[in-house]
Amino acid sequence: MAGYNRQSVYLPDRDGLEKCAAAAGEKKFRASQLENWLYVRFARSFDEMSNLPGSFRRFLCENFLSPCETLSLLETAADRSGTVKYLWRLCDGELIETVGIPSGERMTVCVSSQAGCGFGCAFCASCKNGFSRNLDCAEIVAQAALVSAQAGGKPDNIVFMGIGEPFANYDNVLAAARRFNGCFGIGARKITVSTCGVVPGILRYACEPEQFELAVSLHAPDDEMRSRLMPVNRRWPIRELMAACREYTARTNRIVTFEYILVDGLNCSRRHASELLALLKDLKCRVNLIPLNPVNGFFWRAPSREICRAFGEFLTSHGLNTTLRHSRGGNVNASCGQLRRARASSLCAGETAGNCLENTAQCAGKEEK
Ligand code: SAH
Repeated sequence: MAGYNRQSVYLPDRDGLEKCAAAAGEKKFRASQLENWLYVRFARSFDEMSNLPGSFRRFLCENFLSPCETLSLLETAADRSGTVKYLWRLCDGELIETVGIPSGERMTVCVSSQAGCGFGCAFCASCKNGFSRNLDCAEIVAQAALVSAQAGGKPDNIVFMGIGEPFANYDNVLAAARRFNGCFGIGARKITVSTCGVVPGILRYACEPEQFELAVSLHAPDDEMRSRLMPVNRRWPIRELMAACREYTARTNRIVTFEYILVDGLNCSRRHASELLALLKDLKCRVNLIPLNPVNGFFWRAPSREICRAFGEFLTSHGLNTTLRHSRGGNVNASCGQLRRARASSLCAGETAGNCLENTAQCAGKEEK
């Protein structure tokens, strides 16, 4: 990464850590110890790695960025449900966010994949200050590691639903997903990548050997409205998106989770529900309905609870596995893209969108508690 004198200690894979131990004149087992500190004990600094010899720790300090140097914590915000939002500064000054979402004994971590986003969805705060750059694998992995350090344990689920479009940073996202799977020990089916509809990414993802999950942000049942809300639809319209999703389910035998934001007066009438049903009825999928979280500069609001329920019940009653979600972090300035944006525009108040959802088992037709 340009501007770094030292690379993050989360960048090397297992082989790389062994090479690093060898370069420091250490035996191979030191690499295992280091790996344990990084992925099991979630050390923030090299100082904490008490079973490593002082000379090796000094070597690491001189040659690598520690976890807390990879991402420096600027701010946290917590809401009543225990959801915690983290704002980090990267080595080159870029800001990103991560959200830790507890649910009973379990925890979901929502990671960012890019600094900013270039896809320009009308309702999303992450795009408002444009795209800066892709995160490297270490910057993605370190988000979950530092949240784990804070929470005192590893996450149960990882969702790539933070800032950025994961499939526009495909290689680094997949490398990070593999670390979550292989090094953190999080099952592939507990790791979800969410895309705004980058069709080549979906097709490539369908060919990966791991059973990672796919979520697709749909948000509208027709091209006219979807293109208005999500410019990506002009490049890959709904027909192509659905064909890619079919290809994904056929190849992997897994279902697709569709995210559908409910926007009052825009996409949640009975007609929209019927159109959505027609679109998804022979696809192996489930639908997460998310009442819109208000974002400055996007005029629209969430519908009433009754409208949200009626929309969900219509889909459920016609056999579509549907869950009405409540976004977390809405009562603190605490959800993806919001803190970063607030910082960039000197903490403008009132932006409370929560777009991180848990990747938990779904109950058809049930409302999230
Ligand atoms: N770029 C990816 C992942 C990041 S966004 C994607 O588009 O899927 C994660 C989810 O939050 C997406 O479904 C996104 O559409 C949704 N989201 C963004 N802004 C939101 C808002 N204001 N209210 C509710 N959901 C929002």
